[in-house]
Amino acid sequence: MVRFTVLASGSKGNSAVVSGGRTRILVDAGLSCRELHRRMRLAGEDPQTLDAIVITHEHQDHINGLAVTARKLGIPVYFTEATHRAWMRWLTPRRQMTYAQWLEQCKRQQAERQAEIDAAAEPACQEDSDQEDPALEAELAAQPAVEPVDAPLPAPRQDPTWLPAVEFFEAGQPFTIGNIDLSPFTIPHDAADPVGFVFSTEGVRLGFATDLGYVTPNVRAQLKRLDLLLLESNHDLEMLRDGPYPWQVKQRVLSRVGHLSNDAAAEFLSNDYDGQAAYVILGHLSESNNLPDLARVAAERALAPRASLLANRLILATQHEPLSSIDF
Ligand SMILES: [Zn+2]
Ligand SMILES: [Zn+2]
Repeated sequence: MVRFTVLASGSKGNSAVVSGGRTRILVDAGLSCRELHRRMRLAGEDPQTLDAIVITHEHQDHINGLAVTARKLGIPVYFTEATHRAWMRWLTPRRQMTYAQWLEQCKRQQAERQAEIDAAAEPACQEDSDQEDPALEAELAAQPAVEPVDAPLPAPRQDPTWLPAVEFFEAGQPFTIGNIDLSPFTIPHDAADPVGFVFSTEGVRLGFATDLGYVTPNVRAQLKRLDLLLLESNHDLEMLRDGPYPWQVKQRVLSRVGHLSNDAAAEFLSNDYDGQAAYVILGHLSESNNLPDLARVAAERALAPRASLLANRLILATQHEPLSSIDF
């Protein structure tokens, strides 16, 4: 059975579970470890059965609970190399170490780390920071630079960037985790190396595109022949223009590397989408600059010419509770 569960979607945290065959993948970990566990249980998913975490990009609303969750479950994390680097910088802004030095440290300490895994008690979620991104400003904040100097390197167990295993993938290079094929593609967004995904398993294709400033020709090409589409519908243009964000943040959200508006999502659904998905889920709705009804009406209008009992069932993902699982 193929199953898709949105645990949270929005600028305060994003996470979803893709299941196919014997494999379960957590896509982004933007809530605290404890909250991720709570929501998975609410949605009928067992956190202990997760096989891996894949990360779309390093903004805080996508990685907030990543390290603690990966450690608690002892599962690998898949990043692009640039996203991994940016995540490390976010976690250790005062770390005086280059990325090359860090890789060298990994090699030296590999054996030691394995011993740590074997010997250490399972970390509890309590060590989680429980930080939540208070606003989109934080998501859009620039990452601090890392400067190369000689400095003592932390021991693995004190290293905030320590993960049970790190795997790298590249946009445009499909790869497989267990029974699930992943096809990552570049999205235009103000992060180091952001990606969307198409997940394929048991003949079912799930498309995942949030956090993108506009729909590029390549994104259009990727989001075809889907059974389920999760598409960003971030803001209403008027609400954003008249809303509380500082002018500079408004400009970044509106930019080609910001977020998709309701109108932009509707334009994609009208003009470029092939209309084949059974489910269209609108996600990453802004709580400050959008209303669910505005997002829904824009998408409904766009999908009206394709009205069908079997396709294009419209669902809105929310920030504060998981959606019911969708089974194929
Ligand atoms: Zn985001
Ligand atoms: Zn983002």
